[in-house]
Amino acid sequence: MSKKRIGLYPGTFDPITNGHLDIIKRGLRLVDKLIIGVATNPSKNPMFSLEERVTTVIRETSALADATGVEIEVAQFDELLMHFAERMNADCIIRGLRAVADFEYEFQMTGMNYQINPDIETVFLMADPRYQTIASKLVKEVAIYDGKISAFVPTLVEKAIIEKVNLSKENP
Ligand code: ADP
Repeated sequence: MSKKRIGLYPGTFDPITNGHLDIIKRGLRLVDKLIIGVATNPSKNPMFSLEERVTTVIRETSALADATGVEIEVAQFDELLMHFAERMNADCIIRGLRAVADFEYEFQMTGMNYQINPDIETVFLMADPRYQTIASKLVKEVAIYDGKISAFVPTLVEKAIIEKVNLSKENP
């Protein structure tokens, strides 16, 4: 039997959006097991705690694992991405590319990662045009100003963002 191909999709997922979910669906076509790595990333000052982000990713992706038969594991990490990938036996890192803005950062990070471990390939995927411009950061900003976010995130995520926004407005 050939070796299972393991992909690692890392991110902050603060919170998971329809853009992330589209990349996950595409990633599932390429691997036998997909690990979604949720980074602690305190420097990004997340709206959702690590635990909330992990629980949300598990909830929003469980149906995809059932539908595709591809195993999904959600794991948190707080270390160098390449060290985490090695520990998880990942064959490749999956990243999503939005527009030009993502390219410069991803280009540098991938170049450095290849020097740390040249055996782990990085694969870039583009979301469906409907989801390409979605970014967690912007979705949160739209919600803060009472804009409609239902096209960008799953229903329960929309509710959770609105709750957080209301809480922060009540306790500024
Ligand atoms: P990070 O802190 O690593 O940027 P994010 O949660 O913002 O974490 O994103 C994780 C990955 O998903 C990144 O590769 C990012 O480019 C990708 N991504 C996020 N939103 C989209 C989208 N709408 N289309 C394509 N890729 C996306």
